[in-house]
Amino acid sequence: MSEIRIVIAGAGLAGLTLAHYLHRHGIQVTVYERDNGLSAREAGYRVHINSTGTSALHAALEPRSWELFLATCGMPDDDMLLFDEQLTPRPPRDKAASKGTGAPAEIPEHLAVCRSTLRRILFLGLEDVVHFGAKVTGYRSNPDSTVTALLEDGGTAEADLLVAADGINSAVRAQRLPQVRVADLGARSIAAKIPLTAETKAKLPAQLYNAFSMAYDGDFTGLTLGPLDRTDPHSPLITRQDPEFRQEARENYALSIFNSTVEHMLPDAELFGAGPDELKAYVLRRLATWHPALVGIVRLWDTATVQALAVRSCVPVATWEPSAVTVMGDAIHAMSPALGIGANTALRDAHVLGSRLLAAAHGDTTLLGGTAAYEESMREYAYRALRKSAFVGQQVIGHLPLPE
Ligand SMILES: Cc1cc2nc3c(=O)[nH]c(=O)nc-3n(C[C@H](O)[C@H](O)[C@H](O)COP(=O)(O)OP(=O)(O)OC[C@H]3O[C@@H](n4cnc5c(N)ncnc54)[C@H](O)[C@@H]3O)c2cc1C
Repeated sequence: MSEIRIVIAGAGLAGLTLAHYLHRHGIQVTVYERDNGLSAREAGYRVHINSTGTSALHAALEPRSWELFLATCGMPDDDMLLFDEQLTPRPPRDKAASKGTGAPAEIPEHLAVCRSTLRRILFLGLEDVVHFGAKVTGYRSNPDSTVTALLEDGGTAEADLLVAADGINSAVRAQRLPQVRVADLGARSIAAKIPLTAETKAKLPAQLYNAFSMAYDGDFTGLTLGPLDRTDPHSPLITRQDPEFRQEARENYALSIFNSTVEHMLPDAELFGAGPDELKAYVLRRLATWHPALVGIVRLWDTATVQALAVRSCVPVATWEPSAVTVMGDAIHAMSPALGIGANTALRDAHVLGSRLLAAAHGDTTLLGGTAAYEESMREYAYRALRKSAFVGQQVIGHLPLPE
């Protein structure tokens, strides 16, 4: 096997899954993450993972970590139920749109996953691979076709391939593909978690409990509820982890998101300047005439977890020539959240790129050839997912179409 050195910018789901896959197959990989640790920034939220995502995770994780993943995720009944603001069911959404590519067959198509717990699982065994507090600011291309990643603290890291997995505001993508634009889709969200206890469960509408649900009115003001009820919180595999991991992996919660188009939402300066309690009070005012059970959901929001978000999407660009710097995940195809497939597509990148790099390490292709094959395939499936998400988001969230 030839010695190739891979440097990844960003330890999100995409970067960590790729790192895990490469490390498992004996390929030299180093990850630079700007945050000081896994729990530095986020409160941790629930993501819907379909069979595209589970296939990628199954390929990356060792059997024990895979079992840990299954124990810490939830297996809800259905993918999405739709209602109006008085909790009258709307026609069901086309489920095929959020379905994955299939396999592994022994688990359900749709899983509810805590992003933070999944990152902790992906980090297991990568303690010497991931460097925290290491912001990548850009790179330098070298005459010998290698690349040097540049770190904010003045450090550098040489690689045969630099992978931009540093999210929607990617510094590496900005240098590699300056033509990529990130569009504001003109919708805003206020998200929060609800701790799921016997008491809070009893207060949630029964028909919304075991599925991802969304209620929205004629102005596209919407409220979602996505419970995460972990499959096996008392698994011995969890007991073996550190106290922070154990505590998190035993907490059930629901993610609830209020969304509205910018015309109906607080102006950005107020929205992003408001404290969590003000945001929660604002949502309660906005929903004053809605069905009491839906208002009750917002009353259960844990105020400490309330945060405002903008709905943005990358805009697809034309084919580019491969080089020693490539892109994956939200860094190249951040998309409307309407279908819940952004993370799944990022995981697919890790699967596809990982297997191409393995082929290059085995001498079955060149590194540049493997990168080119990944990019060609990624542009096809990821841009399709991005366009489909934008289209469905227009219908359900009422956001703007993707700019040309
Ligand atoms: C509320 C919410 C709900 C969602 N629900 C779903 C869902 O149900 N299903 C789904 O498929 N998708 C969902 N998504 C989308 C999904 O979370 C993203 O598509 C996915 O996390 C992208 O992963 P990523 O690794 O590419 O990027 P990110 O998760 O953004 O990770 C990027 C990483 O890079 C680090 N970084 C950034 N800049 C630098 C730098 N300069 N140097 C070093 N490190 C850097 C960041 O700190 C971060 O750790 C949701 C998103 C949100 C916000």
